[in-house]
Amino acid sequence: MEQKQEGVLVVLSGFSGSGKGTIVKELLNRRGTSYALSVSATTRLPRTGEKDGREYFFKTREEFEKMIEKNELIEYALYVENYYGTPKAYVKEQLGAGKDVILEIEIQGASRVKEKFPDALLLFVTPPDAPTLKARLKGRGTEDCKTIEARLSRAEEEAMYIADYDYLIVNDDLDACVEEVHSIIQNEHQRVCRKQEFVNRIKEELKRISKGEQSV
Ligand code: ADP
Ligand code: 5GP
Repeated sequence: MEQKQEGVLVVLSGFSGSGKGTIVKELLNRRGTSYALSVSATTRLPRTGEKDGREYFFKTREEFEKMIEKNELIEYALYVENYYGTPKAYVKEQLGAGKDVILEIEIQGASRVKEKFPDALLLFVTPPDAPTLKARLKGRGTEDCKTIEARLSRAEEEAMYIADYDYLIVNDDLDACVEEVHSIIQNEHQRVCRKQEFVNRIKEELKRISKGEQSV
């Protein structure tokens, strides 16, 4: 029997307010056993309802810089004046256990992950149009006007990097979008480069069968 395949490292990026968090939450609700969500560290303040260790590990700037020094992060980036980073240990452990690990991170982090893990699957989430993005950001009600403007302006910069991603996910109908993300990730498991053990086995069997061995 083949060994359990290592999980797929999935990077989900997208404009702030495009619906990344909503998609991931729904994906985990529906298919929780296949996935592990990496919880990032950040220096931004918790939003109402956010809990330390659930949405993020909330850190002071000093604590975050210690994590950088101790090489505890796969990647980190500054995003609109705050640090965000992916703790290394959990990601490695979950990939090894065969889970598909989701990193919900911005574009600079995504590019570092791709350098370190060339097989990572990069998905970029966008709303159907820009006015919808603004409406969703405002509608979420978690940021003041100044922060919303900064995030929209950051979105304009981020749009220049969409071509670096493998798939574009248009989050219009949430239900369809979640199923689409799930099926893209599942298809990724079928890539030949992830099936080396299977390929080697069947080559070996074919060699033996063509030699007329009975035991195959
Ligand atoms: P992000 O994590 O990308 O910043 P969120 O998941 O917080 O974005 O979504 C931003 C807002 O848009 C939230 O209020 C969320 O409920 C809403 N939203 C997300 N997806 C959809 C969708 N497909 N249709 C309508 N509203 C959505
Ligand atoms: P928010 O403050 O809305 O939770 O996140 C702001 C941005 O930071 C989002 O684009 C989110 O994907 C990104 N982000 C969250 N965690 C990480 C991380 O660990 N590393 C990087 N590079 N970006 C992150």
